[in-house]
Amino acid sequence: MNQYSINTICQLSDKSLSDQWGALSYPIYQTATFAHGGLGESTGFDYTRMQNPTRQQLEYVVKTLEHGEDALAFSSGMAAIANVMELFSPGDNIIIDADLYGGSVRLFNEINRKNGLTFTATDLSKGEYSELFTENTKAVYLETPTNPMMNVTDIEELAAECHKKGVLLIVDNTFLSPYFQNPLVLGADIVIHSGTKFLGGHHDTIGGFVVLKDEKLIERLRYIYKTVGAGLSPFDSWLILRGIRTLSVRMDRAEENAKKLATYLKTNSYVKRVIYPGLEEHPGYEIMKKQARGFGAMLTFEVESKELVEHILKNLKLIYFAESLGGTETLITYPVNQTHADVPRDVLEKNGINERVLRLSVGIEDAEDLISDFEDVFNSYKKSL
Ligand SMILES: *Cc1c(COP(=O)(O)O)cnc(C)c1O
Repeated sequence: MNQYSINTICQLSDKSLSDQWGALSYPIYQTATFAHGGLGESTGFDYTRMQNPTRQQLEYVVKTLEHGEDALAFSSGMAAIANVMELFSPGDNIIIDADLYGGSVRLFNEINRKNGLTFTATDLSKGEYSELFTENTKAVYLETPTNPMMNVTDIEELAAECHKKGVLLIVDNTFLSPYFQNPLVLGADIVIHSGTKFLGGHHDTIGGFVVLKDEKLIERLRYIYKTVGAGLSPFDSWLILRGIRTLSVRMDRAEENAKKLATYLKTNSYVKRVIYPGLEEHPGYEIMKKQARGFGAMLTFEVESKELVEHILKNLKLIYFAESLGGTETLITYPVNQTHADVPRDVLEKNGINERVLRLSVGIEDAEDLISDFEDVFNSYKKSL
C-alpha cells in the first residue's frame, strides 16, 4: 500500500469507503449509530464510539503515512497517550525521556503513578540507558527531537536495545510529523501524534493518533478504545483529513522558514543560543540526517534576560504569543509559564529550560516578514535600554 511517495499519500483515500455519489471531499458522517439490515447483519459500522466512516478514512491516511497496520484517532493527543498507558498494569515500569511535553509528564505523574505505574526519567539522547531496564520495565517512551530542548535520540539504536529486552518502544512523533520521520520504520512499536499540531495544521481542532503494526497490540488497543470512548468526532476527523491534504507543502515551507529564522537569530547579539536540529552544530544533526527526511519547524532560543522575554512577547506583531504548534501561523511559546508549567522547576533547570527560553513553531508566512517582526522588537528593546 506504500508504493506512493509521501506527497501522494497525503492525497490518498480508502476507496472501499467511498460514498455512492463520488464526493471528493469525504463526507462527514454525523451519526451516532448505524441501522442493521437484519439479525447478524452490519455495514461494518455499528456505533460511532467504535467506528465511523469519516474517522476510518482519516485513520487510513494516517496509518499509511506512518507505515503502520492500524491507526486510531482520538479526541486529543492526551487521550491517545492516556489510552496507550492503559496497555500497562500496576507494577509496570516505563523509562521516559527527561524532556517531554509537559502534559505527558502531568499524566504520568498525576494519573498513571496513582494507578501503580512507575517511571524512570533519563536523557535518552545521551544513549546511556542500558542499565535502567529492570525486570518490570515494559516500555520506553520518548519524543525526538524533544520539547522544547530539541534533544535527538537515535531511534534505531534504542529500538534494538528495547527488542533485545522485550520492551515496547513508544515514540511521540508530533514534532516532526510523519512527513519528516517514521519511527515504526526505524523499529518503534507505537507511534503517537497530537493531531492538533502539524497533521491538522490550522490551529482549529484538537485530535490525537496512535499508530501500530503488531496485530496483538492493535486488538488490545482497539478494545480499550471502544471501552474508554475517546474517539475523534466525525467533524474533527474531517478537519484533520483536510489538513493532511496540504501536509507536505506546509511542512516544506515551515521548515524552510525555520532554517532562515534560526540562522537570523544566531546572528543577534541579544540571543544567547539557538537550538534547532537543522543547524550543523546541533549535537543531534547527524542522527537527524540519518533517521529523518527533514529537521522540522520547531526551534528554541534563549535570550539575554527575562526583561527581553517580556518585551518580545508584548511587542511581536505578526507572530502570535500562544500555546500549541504546528499550524500555518507562527507561534511563540514561553515554556516555563505555558507548556511546562506543571513540570517541577528543578527538573526544568536540569534540562536547561529557564526563564529566558522561548520556543517558536514556525509557520508558512514569508520568512522576511517573520525576521522583520523580530528586528523591530530587538530594535525597540535596544532603544528602551
Ligand atoms: C500538544 C502535544 C501533545 C498533546 O496533544 P493534545 O492534542 O494537545 O492533547 C502531546 N505531545 C506533544 C509533543 C505535543 O506537542
